[in-house]
Amino acid sequence: AHRAGIRQARGGNGPINSGPHLEWVVYNGLVNNASTVSAHDLLKRYFGYDDFRPLQAEIVGAVMDGQDTVVLMPTGGGKSLCYQLPALALPGVTLVVSPLIALMKDQVDALKRNGVPAEFLNSAQPREEQVRVQREAFSGDLKLLYVAPERIVRPGFQQFLNSLEISLVAVDEAHCISEWGHEFRPDYRNLRVLRQLKQDTPFVALTATATAQVREDIEAQLDLRDPARFVASFDRPNLRYSVLPSEDRYDVLVGMLRDQPHGSAIVYRSSQRGTEALAADLVEDGIPAVAYHAGLSRETRAANQERFVRDEVRVIVGTVAFGMGIDKPDVRLVVHYEMPSSIERYYQESGRAGRDGLESECVLFYGRGERERHNYHLERMEPGPARDSAVAKLAAMNSYCHAPTCRRAVILRYFGDKPGQIPCGACDVCMGETFDATVIAQKVMSAVVRTGERFGASYVSQVLRGAKTRQTEERGHRDLSVYGIVDDFTDSGLRDVMSSLVSAGLLARSDGEYPTLSVTIKGREFLRNRERIDLPLFESMKSTRKVASRSAGKEEHDDYDAALFDELRSLRTRIAGESGVPPYIVFGDAPLREMARYYPQSEGSFLKINGVGRKKLEDFGPTFLEVIRDYAETNGLEDQILTMAESGQRSLVYTVEKKRQTHPRAYEKWSIEEEERLNHLHGEGLSIQEIAEQLGRQPGAVRSRLLRLGILQ
Ligand code: ADP
Ligand code: ZN
Repeated sequence: AHRAGIRQARGGNGPINSGPHLEWVVYNGLVNNASTVSAHDLLKRYFGYDDFRPLQAEIVGAVMDGQDTVVLMPTGGGKSLCYQLPALALPGVTLVVSPLIALMKDQVDALKRNGVPAEFLNSAQPREEQVRVQREAFSGDLKLLYVAPERIVRPGFQQFLNSLEISLVAVDEAHCISEWGHEFRPDYRNLRVLRQLKQDTPFVALTATATAQVREDIEAQLDLRDPARFVASFDRPNLRYSVLPSEDRYDVLVGMLRDQPHGSAIVYRSSQRGTEALAADLVEDGIPAVAYHAGLSRETRAANQERFVRDEVRVIVGTVAFGMGIDKPDVRLVVHYEMPSSIERYYQESGRAGRDGLESECVLFYGRGERERHNYHLERMEPGPARDSAVAKLAAMNSYCHAPTCRRAVILRYFGDKPGQIPCGACDVCMGETFDATVIAQKVMSAVVRTGERFGASYVSQVLRGAKTRQTEERGHRDLSVYGIVDDFTDSGLRDVMSSLVSAGLLARSDGEYPTLSVTIKGREFLRNRERIDLPLFESMKSTRKVASRSAGKEEHDDYDAALFDELRSLRTRIAGESGVPPYIVFGDAPLREMARYYPQSEGSFLKINGVGRKKLEDFGPTFLEVIRDYAETNGLEDQILTMAESGQRSLVYTVEKKRQTHPRAYEKWSIEEEERLNHLHGEGLSIQEIAEQLGRQPGAVRSRLLRLGILQ
């Protein structure tokens, strides 16, 4: 057990975990000599980060405490750090079980780039390489060793494991062990063998799959003992969700890609043929794109993925086969060209956007054919629980598309998470147009009631629009008071209203081949109490509806120098190409943006960038600094971090600088002379506006100074 190697720095049992402050005395970790290290030191020195993300500090604490630990965190939450950081402080090696070779390689590359001794073992390596890695692990030089699960059951390998000092076992993508999850990998069952082999070694299991069933299964399969459980919020505040009509999706997609000339995009399609056709169209339109699906040869797939990861193509068009094993943190757009079959899937796939925490878009194209396409598959399933569950999942997915409320809220509720503030400010519903749907909702619901709650949306629409069909005649529905009372909606607009009402819980749609509509209890209350309702305004309604538009667009702020950012990006790509790693391993978009915001021109200020650690400063500092200095000189920009932010208040610095772009004297100190002039001008009876003009200051600044001096009350 690794406890032997760790002594707590101050009394009590285990490491000191007082909020975000963790400290250990390390005897045989990467940092030697029984020195005290704080988690924050390690975090900055090896990963370059200033702070932990939510829960990371707590998880690191539990892991260092030698507890079995289960971590549920959304993609991009920062799971890797939860075992990588402890690995640095623990005496032996941390064994990381990871499902995909490509993923391992990237993680190991990234760790090495940060100065952490890490390696992987898999069958794709040449024999000599495997021997070298094993020897290194054996000698105790390695801190992290990544292995594929199939390896564990090889007899030779078990011997090797037994000879190692393993301090921690990290099981990445732990849901792969569960048959309940949608990515079950039989090889993961080998982990039970590992557990038996390493009875006394703490395990940490990490996954982004949220269902309770899967989590319980992970704990049972890995035989975790009274594990510490950490469940992060599944909200991804940096992702913006929208659902767009599928009619002209190609043009819309091309428009989006052209509007945002940088940044990678993933487009998901439901068919293999579809991925190839779309990739070809994009290439024809001058947008570099490749396809990815299970029908391509293994080599082609690997090559296409590689080109995408290395920023040689911007767009990858894939089936669901694409994605696991992709860690690319700077995907700015994930598009679903067709609707996926469940919110789990959608959340997982769209979640590949914005892992680095920067704003990114998730767009889903939705059209009428979608439901039929899925139903076609469902009808082919054997009746039974599996099919029922698939039907329910599809219904939830459908209501996501029709949500009259915040998309984010729909997702979070689906996972049993409490939605935060609504409007969320970053989904099409919260930011988009709605209309007062009170009257149309009343009409629709009373038509459902009058026709006996026995018909589907299409027939209810016929009745409302007064269709002269045989059915309306034979059923005697032309005599109903609701017959023909709607003339401001088309059929498809009406059906969208009905779907939204289902999502809002006012109408219910029965299961089965011919779903019928009924009014729920909530719907009856809505009618009785004459409540009001706003619904999203879909394309299908725009031609016929007058828009009561409510555009609450979140202000887009470019808070970095785009020209410098571009230069730094190409520098990064060049360096990555020379050293054979993906560009993001050199620096992610987030640190580059910070550089393009603060213009660091000395090593000291370069190290202040979030994402720059010791090793990267050494390796890349000189090259990047040269470019930044050169740029700053040409443009007359001083080193903003050094001049303003010795206090560490970087966000403040930024506001100050931004303000100064529009007003040069913003935040400038008042001299005594100037204050006297101010006092005098005010005494002369000048207005604040006039004083501001005289002093060359902003009226706001004048007013607050007057208040400060007690001249104004
Ligand atoms: P996950 O495995 O949960 O999807 P990763 O471990 O790949 O997430 O981390 C996602 C991104 O967040 C990576 O680009 C990583 O460098 C970054 N990251 C992780 N922890 C921090 C932190 N404390 N501060 C800033 N960035 C972080
Ligand atoms: Zn919202």
